[in-house]
Amino acid sequence: MYQIIDGKAISTALKEELKVKVDEMKSHGTVPCLAVILVGEDPASTVYVGNKKKACEFIGIKSLSYELPESTSREELLELIEKLNADDSVNGILVQLPLPKHIDEDAVIKAISPKKDVDGFHPQSVGALCIGQPGFVSCTPAGIIELLKRSNVEIEGKECVIIGRSNIVGKPMSLLMLRENATVTVCHSRTKNLAEVTKRADILIVAIGKPKMITAEYVKEGAVVIDVGIHRLEGKKLCGDVDFDDVAPHTSAITPVPGGVGPMTIAMLMKNCVESVSLNS
Ligand code: NAD
Repeated sequence: MYQIIDGKAISTALKEELKVKVDEMKSHGTVPCLAVILVGEDPASTVYVGNKKKACEFIGIKSLSYELPESTSREELLELIEKLNADDSVNGILVQLPLPKHIDEDAVIKAISPKKDVDGFHPQSVGALCIGQPGFVSCTPAGIIELLKRSNVEIEGKECVIIGRSNIVGKPMSLLMLRENATVTVCHSRTKNLAEVTKRADILIVAIGKPKMITAEYVKEGAVVIDVGIHRLEGKKLCGDVDFDDVAPHTSAITPVPGGVGPMTIAMLMKNCVESVSLNS
């Protein structure tokens, strides 16, 4: 029988722990503060930003909300970021991606002070992760490490295969698994004989962006499978990149969608916000 890795319960436990930490900070007069910037009215982004604000409220983090019109120029956005970088009462800055096409995302990410880069997307944060120095880590991969550890999945010495090499999931995930002493292979759209490679995995992490692409033929018997994908099917049901019903019986543990990796991403953002206080004081 396989274990379902319950991201909802684990993220709730993590948020409860952070709430205790923030209460203690408050008793010493410190209130962590996250500035959230949303440009335009993309419906998915609006939902994500709403969920982030709700999580802040639960934990006791102050959130400042900047909801800017689609027509905002790159200069206006950079000016706001500069202002928030210089504001000592703001610990973390988050710009919800994707940005409207006329704004260069790389320039915006680079403008955020690495000390306030709670998304972990700044090149300095990524570089620090690469050479094993302290810095913010991208929330989704950091959340997966937390999920594995809190589910007692041993990582050291295991064969880990990651499908996907994006800057926000696949690449940082590979660096984190290396840091945990796994033997890491990264697959992508040009990988030949994908199933042959993924069948080696003790831990298979899937971040492809294609609904239910990974079926049982890609999975070694008894592997741990982590599904990062999230897709809304017709009729509004959610699914991941893994065909859960087909794959789950062949695993020792697997994350569901919804209720697996997703809730951890926000919880880790909150963790980064709480940790950012010590970097900014
Ligand atoms: P992306 O599109 O940036 O990257 C997808 C990667 O998959 C690429 O590196 C590509 O090479 C690889 N790929 C595509 N087709 C492939 C194939 N046929 N075989 C092997 N590799 C293939 O996506 P992303 O931003 O990394 O996101 C991946 C998925 O995870 C999406 O569904 C996204 O919505 C989801 N996601 C979820 C969370 C969360 O919090 N749960 C966070 C980020 C992303």
